[in-house]
Amino acid sequence: MPNCILRYCKNYSKRTTKFSDGVTFHKFPRPGHEKREQWIKFVQNNRSEDTWLPSEHTCICSVHFREEDFYLTKTGRRYLKKSAVPFEKLSSEDNRNTSPTSLLNVDVSDSESIFDTPIQIELKKELRKNIAAKKKLLGINKKLKRQCRYLKLKNQQLTDIIKELKSKLVKVESVADNENQQIQEASVVVKE
Ligand SMILES: [Zn+2]
Repeated sequence: MPNCILRYCKNYSKRTTKFSDGVTFHKFPRPGHEKREQWIKFVQNNRSEDTWLPSEHTCICSVHFREEDFYLTKTGRRYLKKSAVPFEKLSSEDNRNTSPTSLLNVDVSDSESIFDTPIQIELKKELRKNIAAKKKLLGINKKLKRQCRYLKLKNQQLTDIIKELKSKLVKVESVADNENQQIQEASVVVKE
């Protein structure tokens, strides 16, 4: 079963078919396709993995595309246009232009409104869920960064203490060596 490769996206086909919320899954353009690089870059940014590459079966779900990236066949099936490139819907540090509120007011052309409305409702639901999840993760991230800073400081302090103790140990050892030598010398003198 395909699932969406994007981080924080919980869409996978078993769940989505069950709720039939119109989410579709889309494989990457084939090697040599002009848009392939943009898809890869998008996922690399999303996952913060510069070396990430898709497999033959890697999918991105329809939530990460614009409504105009799809077209409907006469039988009502929804397909992704060849020119489509996924995009980041949540407001993030590197994409401030698309605020979550602007996305909740997406314009739908009349001819497609019958098909799009339930999908949009689901997309909005998904979007709100994602925004809440992201907020939560950002909070956790902040907390972890704080903890990380604190632990680094603590680590530095402990390293310093260890260094100090090591140098003391060297001193103590050399003093002990000296004393041992003196005792030995003294015992030699006594024997004589
Ligand atoms: Zn997805």
